[in-house]
Amino acid sequence: MKALLPALFLAIVSVTAVFAKGGPAINEKCPVDGKTVRIIYRVFTDNGTVAFCCVECMESYKKNPTRYPVTSKEPGK
Ligand SMILES: [Zn+2]
Repeated sequence: MKALLPALFLAIVSVTAVFAKGGPAINEKCPVDGKTVRIIYRVFTDNGTVAFCCVECMESYKKNPTRYPVTSKEPGK
């Protein structure tokens, strides 16, 4: 049983690393249709993490990022 613990610990560390990558989303409105974003739908860009309201919007953005300008949320808000 003791051999399971290191494996479990490593799994937890890996999950934490995935969530830490990219940081919080820079936008709070979907750049494709303007709806409120859900952080589970996101793309990592040079400007930071861009979030979307749904997977369809995320795919649209990935196909043509320049078509959908991202509005960053105001700093300090
Ligand atoms: Zn959307």
